[in-house]
Amino acid sequence: MDALPDLAAYDAVLFDLDGVLTPTADVHMHAWQSMFDELFAEWEITPAYTERDYFEHLDGKKRYDGVASLLRSRDVEVPWGEPSDPVTADTVCGIGNRKNAYFEKSLREDGIAAYPGSLALLDVLAAKGTPVAVVSSSKNAEEVLGVAGIRDRFPVVMDGVIAERDHLASKPAPDVFVEAARMLGVDPARCAAVEDALSGVQSAAAGGFALVVGVDRGAGRDVLTAAGAHVVVEDLEEFVR
Ligand SMILES: [Mg+2]
Repeated sequence: MDALPDLAAYDAVLFDLDGVLTPTADVHMHAWQSMFDELFAEWEITPAYTERDYFEHLDGKKRYDGVASLLRSRDVEVPWGEPSDPVTADTVCGIGNRKNAYFEKSLREDGIAAYPGSLALLDVLAAKGTPVAVVSSSKNAEEVLGVAGIRDRFPVVMDGVIAERDHLASKPAPDVFVEAARMLGVDPARCAAVEDALSGVQSAAAGGFALVVGVDRGAGRDVLTAAGAHVVVEDLEEFVR
């Protein structure tokens, strides 16, 4: 296999969070299961929620869209509500917020650790003085980074909260990656971006990043390459060998 490029040679490296720096998907899956188990029992909804529902209705969708899709599959309809709805509200938004409460509780109680290979790469980049940033669609990014103990490694964290506040189009649009580069004071054409999701790779590629690294955590090497990844690895540890 060809040698991988030296990421420290770029002006900065921008990292996605979930699936690139931290294994967050498991925490999300568990939170959905706990929340729907309780809701289905309370409302006597059948058939029971299963992991298959996660992949069919929730994975990769915005939180509220996922709730609406899942409930529709059980012929249950509730009002949409507002994002500010309390977790007790029987609305799509309230139920979505309930899931988020489970997610936060799990993070606090069980914690989350960064992938060792990602930490090793961050150490190498820090030693060489290469600036780094996080570019995540998640509104939980700050909390996940804090619990993982890596928040202070990143001068710039572009997350779902900032994107919503500044009306930035979400991935696969290039806006969040390009804006994070601007916040770092670097030119995307001289930077690297690291992503594990199809939409994230598309976002970085559309942003004109010099190098787009795909991390294959299940999306598939061919899919990530077709989306615009210049190189695909299975773990970031491959960059520090
Ligand atoms: Mg990701």
